[in-house]
Amino acid sequence: MTSSVLVLPGDGIGPEITVEAVKVLNALNKSDNLDIVISEDLVGGAAYDVHGVPLTDQTMQKAKDADAILLGAVGGYKWESLDIAVRPEKGLLRLRSEMQLFANLRPAYLFAQLADSSTLKPEVVAGLDMLIVRELTGGIYFGQPRGIRTLENGERQGYNTYVYAEAEIKRIAHVAFNAAMKRGKKLTSVDKANVLEVTELWREIMDEVAKYYPEVELKHMYVDNAAMQLVLNPKQFDVIVTGNMFGDILSDQASMLTGSIGMLASASLDANNKGMYEPSHGSAPDIAGKNIANPLATILSAAMMLRYSLKREDLALKIENAVASVLDKGLRTGDIWSEGMTKVSTSEIGDAVVDCL
Ligand code: NAD
Repeated sequence: MTSSVLVLPGDGIGPEITVEAVKVLNALNKSDNLDIVISEDLVGGAAYDVHGVPLTDQTMQKAKDADAILLGAVGGYKWESLDIAVRPEKGLLRLRSEMQLFANLRPAYLFAQLADSSTLKPEVVAGLDMLIVRELTGGIYFGQPRGIRTLENGERQGYNTYVYAEAEIKRIAHVAFNAAMKRGKKLTSVDKANVLEVTELWREIMDEVAKYYPEVELKHMYVDNAAMQLVLNPKQFDVIVTGNMFGDILSDQASMLTGSIGMLASASLDANNKGMYEPSHGSAPDIAGKNIANPLATILSAAMMLRYSLKREDLALKIENAVASVLDKGLRTGDIWSEGMTKVSTSEIGDAVVDCL
């Protein structure tokens, strides 16, 4: 069956890294009858420059019609002084919210060949393979009321609201349990139930949903302890599920255990596993246009797309194995380069992945 993929390269290094992922997908189209049709459009600053908005209604509709979206990154110095309503990031937020991409999946996987890239001791991180499932469209980042108000005594007060409805917790719980079923069947739910009622409810619902997944071992952990455990003994984790704010922080922390932001993929899914796939890093304007960025996070995001939205686990594994082979050969972009390895460009490492498929 033909599937459609919308590629939104975005800004900065976005175009350079997505073109490498498209190369890989096109190669699989030929060699493995992948049968996907790829189209491309503008998002972020690139869309603003042409249309005056970071995402047009037409592009939004194309995204809704596609089976999956592969995004590079948005943002850059050029657009930093724009009105907040038309900043590049707004394009991304619109995609996430209108498509109801409530589940953000971020694997923290350390390729054995890169164990030295981590700031932690190799024995602590070697073999690290965990997945963080973060709720993406609710919690304190979206809760109302919010703002900065002036109190009767004239002092200003900032306030936000941390809310989660039962249904929101349930749907992210199912995503996390399902992910755990496909992996090591261990799920850690992270909350602050000793202080915050909203996460007391979170914990209660996690326990309820657990009954549908008797094979998965569910553990609860307070967020402060989780932050500590992530650096003390990160390999204890298989899947972590948590709310928007805790997930924002913990997923960045977990990703850095691997030491290389250029290697980290991510997926944001809706209730039907339709999703948007993107590297965890930003648009890296400092190195844009130089053909030195690492495209592997984007190539690995394309692998996640094949796994979760296009149901081609076989081809996802094929890409992941090809990336491992490229690392085995000692090929490295600058960000993951170390003594004795061969430094290659963005396009050279992309070509090497295609060769290894
Ligand atoms: P960044 O992730 O773009 O860059 C941080 C550092 O990592 C830089 O030194 C950069 O050169 C390096 N880096 C990032 N990706 C790399 C890669 N693939 N290969 C090699 N090196 C890489 O974060 P930042 O500098 O804080 O933000 C730059 C811009 O990106 C900002 O406009 C920010 O708003 C935007 N941003 C976008 C997203 C997104 O599109 N999802 C996410 C984060 C930041």
